[in-house]
Amino acid sequence: MTRSAPLPAPGLPLILRGQPLVGVDVGGTKVAAIVADADGQPLGRAVRSMAGRPAAIEPIVDAIRAALQAARMGTSSPAAIGVGVPGRVDVGAGVVRHATNLDWFDVPLGRYLAEEFGAPCTVENDVRLAAAGLLDHVAADGARSLAYVAVGTGIGAGLVLDGRLHRGERGMAGEIGHVIVEPDGVVCPCGQRGCLETVASGPAIARRAAVAAVDAAPGGTTLAARPELSAKNVYDAARAGDAVAIQIASETGRALARALSALILTCDLERVLLGGGVAAAGQVFLRPILAELELMRADSPLLTELVPAGSVRLLPPHFDAVAWGGVSLARATAQGSGQAPKGGTAGAPQRDLADGEATPEEPIRVEEVVARETVA
Ligand SMILES: [Zn+2]
Repeated sequence: MTRSAPLPAPGLPLILRGQPLVGVDVGGTKVAAIVADADGQPLGRAVRSMAGRPAAIEPIVDAIRAALQAARMGTSSPAAIGVGVPGRVDVGAGVVRHATNLDWFDVPLGRYLAEEFGAPCTVENDVRLAAAGLLDHVAADGARSLAYVAVGTGIGAGLVLDGRLHRGERGMAGEIGHVIVEPDGVVCPCGQRGCLETVASGPAIARRAAVAAVDAAPGGTTLAARPELSAKNVYDAARAGDAVAIQIASETGRALARALSALILTCDLERVLLGGGVAAAGQVFLRPILAELELMRADSPLLTELVPAGSVRLLPPHFDAVAWGGVSLARATAQGSGQAPKGGTAGAPQRDLADGEATPEEPIRVEEVVARETVA
């Protein structure tokens, strides 16, 4: 590995013609890197496995190198790198303080990648990074106050308020997964009882479905035939008309709708964009949420005004919100704001993504981008 590449001199404009932007999504099982040009057009993408390699940074370096090669820029230094990590991040220092799934404590990831690639590197919590990047996405539809809510193994939200990323006092704003939705529910690893994650996360959906399958009448559900259930199995069965699976999907949607409504009301959000592994189930995941919101609105002029139809939308299942957030962050860094896009530093350039120029987006059909809130 080359460790001698000099960092670009501070104070100089870092976006030079031909220097790509790099966005990286570091997950518990894989890392995805996207290389884009200054206009946010995708040039290359690569994915590497993190599985079985806890505490390893090499897959991240490999993914970035492979994405640069895919972009035919294998010998170029990026203008900047933006990285999202699932955990607590000291953004100013570029240090991952704690990432449970990666088994990382106090990892100076920003400095390491900056030295490795000779480019400034900014590190941010993954859902917050995604939220900041989505401000520019067509799905945000111009909203300046929005949340990205990732529903997967866990449930977390990134908040952008009045066009700026909101991290909160401890950098933990948006921990919606530990809002209590069932006071008499099961105990959560956080110590509380009935957190949203104990109802609507992937493992919770699978657990509830397994219990319901045991309780169901013989032959009453296809779920009973499976030795191990996943949330995907449940939504596949719901899509196929399985009554038990539909019931589980409905209860999940109800819990999510209440929590999302609370989030929207608390922060006066214009938009909530849903992503993550469970949300990838698509309309069969979204519909029960929208149906519950519609019911809640039916008797409430307040909710009708503050959580109108169209507030809650689904991102396309394969849209890499975190890596594209990384591209946005890299652009903000390269333009000299040095911190997170929109969120970050006072005086950060705002022209980059807010004024309708090319949106960082994977080659996906536009009609797939936004599943508008409709209730059949
Ligand atoms: Zn909890």
